[in-house]
Amino acid sequence: MAEKKKDKSALYVRKGVKPSSAGDDAVKRFQKAKRPKVPVSEYVKGILAGDMGMLSQAITLVESSLPEHKEDAVKIVEQCLEHSGNSIRIGITGVPGAGKSTFIESLGSYLTKQGRKLAVLAIDASSHKTGGSILGDKTRMENLAADPNAYIRPSPSAGSLGGVARKTRETIILCEAAGYDTVFVETVGVGQSEIAAHSMVDFFLLLMIAGAGDELQGIKRGIMEMADALIINKADGTNMRRAERAKSIYENTLNLFPPKESGWTPKILTCSAIKGYGIERVWNNIMEYKDNTTENNYFADNRSSQAIYWMYETINEDLRNNFYKDPAICEKLSSLEQKVKEGKISPFKAAGELLDQYIK
Ligand code: GDP
Repeated sequence: MAEKKKDKSALYVRKGVKPSSAGDDAVKRFQKAKRPKVPVSEYVKGILAGDMGMLSQAITLVESSLPEHKEDAVKIVEQCLEHSGNSIRIGITGVPGAGKSTFIESLGSYLTKQGRKLAVLAIDASSHKTGGSILGDKTRMENLAADPNAYIRPSPSAGSLGGVARKTRETIILCEAAGYDTVFVETVGVGQSEIAAHSMVDFFLLLMIAGAGDELQGIKRGIMEMADALIINKADGTNMRRAERAKSIYENTLNLFPPKESGWTPKILTCSAIKGYGIERVWNNIMEYKDNTTENNYFADNRSSQAIYWMYETINEDLRNNFYKDPAICEKLSSLEQKVKEGKISPFKAAGELLDQYIK
């Protein structure tokens, strides 16, 4: 019985892999630490009172893959939902070195000084491979980390991008219920995480740097098209002229993009995150966007569409996980994969067989 229970633990997901005693210790420590169990109502009460410790623990439940944690997490998110939504959610992306953490520090401190409460979250699709998150790291944002009006949470580090992004989406709800009226979602501007971030924020900001010959810096056109503002950072010192030049190049590029559904025309702004130049202008631009899209209803419509998008994403993700975890499927999968590889069966027939078996 004890063995059976153990098998269900997230630390024993792989069949045939004998857990080390270090793993056993970790399980024991975890089981010890989780007692006494905090009731869902306590979490919700703590979050609504703005208790950062309770918020952090609830987010840990959201991020956990243990079924009992998941169950509680769903209830907590559900109960926080009606207290959420009262914020501006801003996606911030840019290649490594563009100055994201410096920019977040600068804009973030400007906002907390005005009395806003800021949550900084991150989606780092690479973190589950490397085991550590490079985004939303407190050591990169020392001032905000010490700021009582700011809450920094690194990227959830386990699971597929879909899973990681969904956890961040749920975390937004908890942060808003805890009174955070401004939410930043940070991503690295090179791949799929941007699409995920874009689908949970109101305003999507692309941070760039001027120069280096390559004005597109490996930023995909699609990401530029998603942006509601392009910010050219490091517009200071000898770089100022180059930043202005880059601005006019990007302006020409943006002119070629199709109009946005929001009715908003993205602006290109320059700033220096280090010196604080242009930071207020960036914020004013975001507020202008909020006013415009509130007036034309896009702000609310977009949030509704995003909620529906996340419902389907969750269904897809859960179905996929459930399918691949099914013991009968696992058993059949590798032999069918081999047959497909050898051309003995078509990929479509193989998929059909597996799905038929799963549905049965
Ligand atoms: P991230 O990888 O996008 O988070 O970039 P960081 O914020 O870590 O910044 C990368 C480097 O650029 C650091 O050495 C920063 O000090 C520097 N940096 C960031 N913003 C500015 C800026 O506005 N001006 C200048 N001159 N340097 C900056």
